[in-house]
Amino acid sequence: MSDIIRRDPRAEWIARNRLHPLHAAMQPHQQSWMGPNGVLRKNVHGVGFIGPNGLKRIDRSGAQQGGAAKRTAAVAVQLPLHQVPAPAFYIGVVPDMVGGRLSSHDRDLLGLAHQLAGKDGAVLAVVFGEHKETAFSAAGVDRLLVLTGDEFDGYAPEQRVQGLRAVDNQFTPRHWLLPDSRTGGGELGRRFAATLGERPATRVWQVTDEHCIGRAGAGLQDLARPLARLILAAVECAEPVSETRHAALPVELSTTVARSLSRIEDLGAVAVDPAAIPMAEAEFIVSGGNGVKDWALFHQAAAALGATEGASRVAVDDGFMARDRQVGASGTWVTARVYVAVGISGAIQHLQGIGACDKVVAINLDPGCDMIKRADLSVIGESAGILQALIDAVQAYRNDAKRDAA
Ligand SMILES: Cc1cc2nc3c(=O)[nH]c(=O)nc-3n(C[C@H](O)[C@H](O)[C@H](O)COP(=O)(O)OP(=O)(O)OC[C@H]3O[C@@H](n4cnc5c(N)ncnc54)[C@H](O)[C@@H]3O)c2cc1C
Repeated sequence: MSDIIRRDPRAEWIARNRLHPLHAAMQPHQQSWMGPNGVLRKNVHGVGFIGPNGLKRIDRSGAQQGGAAKRTAAVAVQLPLHQVPAPAFYIGVVPDMVGGRLSSHDRDLLGLAHQLAGKDGAVLAVVFGEHKETAFSAAGVDRLLVLTGDEFDGYAPEQRVQGLRAVDNQFTPRHWLLPDSRTGGGELGRRFAATLGERPATRVWQVTDEHCIGRAGAGLQDLARPLARLILAAVECAEPVSETRHAALPVELSTTVARSLSRIEDLGAVAVDPAAIPMAEAEFIVSGGNGVKDWALFHQAAAALGATEGASRVAVDDGFMARDRQVGASGTWVTARVYVAVGISGAIQHLQGIGACDKVVAINLDPGCDMIKRADLSVIGESAGILQALIDAVQAYRNDAKRDAA
């Protein structure tokens, strides 16, 4: 195993949050302190660590525990398990699973589902086709139903509605939650509502005591209405699940899903120019800041990765990038699944603009800058060398793929 000490932002967040149930466990134990009479006091019980068999181990060489000045590797957080052995009812959730993984919007939705499920209900996630997600349990899924089959692949809203009807007949969820998104949930939810003959609550951003509030009037007004059975929820409709882990028990349909009339033919995805994608809709953004010294190399790296280009305000003010590429409070608020910040310090105005991004990768010389603190993955080093290495890696990968195909 590599001896690089990796930071765990989640553990650090729990250590700061005094209301979190694991807060106490995340506090570093004080080993010695100055007593009131000026004599140094030592906690002899605080020495050592709990081994894999549950017994306390003391490593006198200090090699495993690290010195006092050395940062210790993050402790894996084991959250309490929330189980619902016999659910009184279900809350059905249909995550978008863009790219086969739960997005931050999907996680918000699962948080809302738990709010509605309480102690007795179980959250049932319905996923179509193959997926790559491994964190259903941490995201709050109590029961997982995966509907596989090539009839659900690609753009198949009618077939998916048939699948949801079969789930509805078997589990009769008390509520159905879908993301009100452009990546599938918005359309699927409306089609499903029409099939069920229900009036869905759309663009919902808050659910309170039997009422839900959604955006209306071109986003300028709020519409409060009694809690609907079918809810199409907006981003940040609830806090994602963070204090419990869940069983994510697999369940199956007892009936086969009827084939829908194939009125829609999916001709597959169409390649688009990443530079032509509006910033707010881009899925993958490589953004440059004041730390980019070779802009030609930056454009080359973005093109090689197939990413949409973004920039910090300094890069725009200095004339290296167009104004419509600025990300941040006075630029565009982006929702990319992956945001690569090259030589951007992470000023609050910039961080506001990337708040909804799923995964942030930072390339920076300064390991203490705010962008590194925000990032899920950081590369400390000179931007030009790292961009060049990225281009080489992409080319090597493509060459291998071409050789395999030949
Ligand atoms: C009202 C207001 C609104 C604003 N709105 C926005 C906004 O919408 N968007 C925005 O971005 N900013 C905005 N700003 C500006 C913001 O406060 C920062 O000044 C700006 O984001 C800094 O840009 P930067 O990170 O590119 O530059 P810097 O702060 O100069 O950071 C450069 C970073 O690059 C690193 N670096 C340097 N050399 C290298 C190298 N060779 N390799 C790798 N890394 C290197 C440095 O360590 C540093 O972290 C606003 C400011 C105000 C007052």
